[in-house]
Amino acid sequence: NRQFRLAKRPEGKPDRDTFDLVETDVPEPGPGEALVRTRYLSVDPYMRGRMSAGESYAEPWEVGDPLRAAAVGEVVESNGAGFDEGDVVVGNLEWADYTAAPGTELTAVDPDLAPVSTALGVLGMPGRTAYFGVREVAEPKAGDTFVVTGAAGAVGSVAGQIAALSGARVVGFAGSDEKVAFLEDQLGFDAGINYKETDDYRAALDEAAPDGVDAYFDNVGGPITDAVFDRLNVDARVAICGQIAHYNATERPTGPRKLSTVLTKRARVEGFLVGDFAPRFEQATKQLGEWVASGEIEYRETVTDGLETAPDAFLGLFEGENIGKQLVKVSDA
Ligand code: NDP
Repeated sequence: NRQFRLAKRPEGKPDRDTFDLVETDVPEPGPGEALVRTRYLSVDPYMRGRMSAGESYAEPWEVGDPLRAAAVGEVVESNGAGFDEGDVVVGNLEWADYTAAPGTELTAVDPDLAPVSTALGVLGMPGRTAYFGVREVAEPKAGDTFVVTGAAGAVGSVAGQIAALSGARVVGFAGSDEKVAFLEDQLGFDAGINYKETDDYRAALDEAAPDGVDAYFDNVGGPITDAVFDRLNVDARVAICGQIAHYNATERPTGPRKLSTVLTKRARVEGFLVGDFAPRFEQATKQLGEWVASGEIEYRETVTDGLETAPDAFLGLFEGENIGKQLVKVSDA
């Protein structure tokens, strides 16, 4: 059994030395546990927070700890876990070939409903984040202009499409021409902005969002967010979902810098965590499943092959290497 552990706490940007790949025995499932063979592993930006000792919304990992992630796998042995051999499940597993996990922390995945990898993306945590962030926090209405950053990523790509379903004009910031084409040609965004091609985000917004911004879904923070704040309309809603531009910062960023706009535009700025909506996850997943089945919501996955690629897949999130949800394929069905 191969397993990744936290080798050391990264200063600033993590790199390959942050990760240790070790060989261990295949774990024995204890009472109430199942032995799960990993099929797909999710890498997510929030894991950067867990690598540092400081306060974050997820518990920090200790140096030497196995890394963990949302993952889809197959039950190969059950010790009273409430699953049968061969069942496909999603849960919080180790970055490893095998994990022994309590049955109470695993959820069955129906392989007939959709490809099982979607339980980590559009029909999983990122999809639900988009769903609640758009519908409960950013609240775009017909005729509004909705802007999303990290627009071609797992959360952003779904958020923009949900906003479009409510009749808003949808504008996305993303880091390449290929991503902008994906937003405009495949996902039906009204406009995409390649933020790596311009320094003048305000001018780009004036072109893409000539009526200003009524709802802003922020995955990124930093100078793009400064520019969007300068273009907020009266009664705008700002959903702070993520701030990936700051996750590798060695000093706390100054700010918020644009509070006078919040004042003059009577804007509402609200951070949210998807976990706050846990009692309504089932409802969200059902709705997302219907949208995916009907083609109203499309999704993309970027998949690297082999457990050994997990560190590079994770580091690639900070370089924008992924389109849609970044996954690691660990084993075949
Ligand atoms: P993504 O699939 O969007 O991957 C991250 C993307 O961020 C990259 O592809 C890259 O795209 C972009 N990016 C990286 N660095 C920068 C930068 N410095 N400036 C601008 N863009 C950058 O990840 P997720 O969809 O999983 O997560 C998106 C955000 O949502 C993250 O901030 C995450 O922490 C947050 N999140 C919050 C949750 C909540 O409960 N509040 C739950 C889940 C996620 P590009 O090529 O465009 O630069």
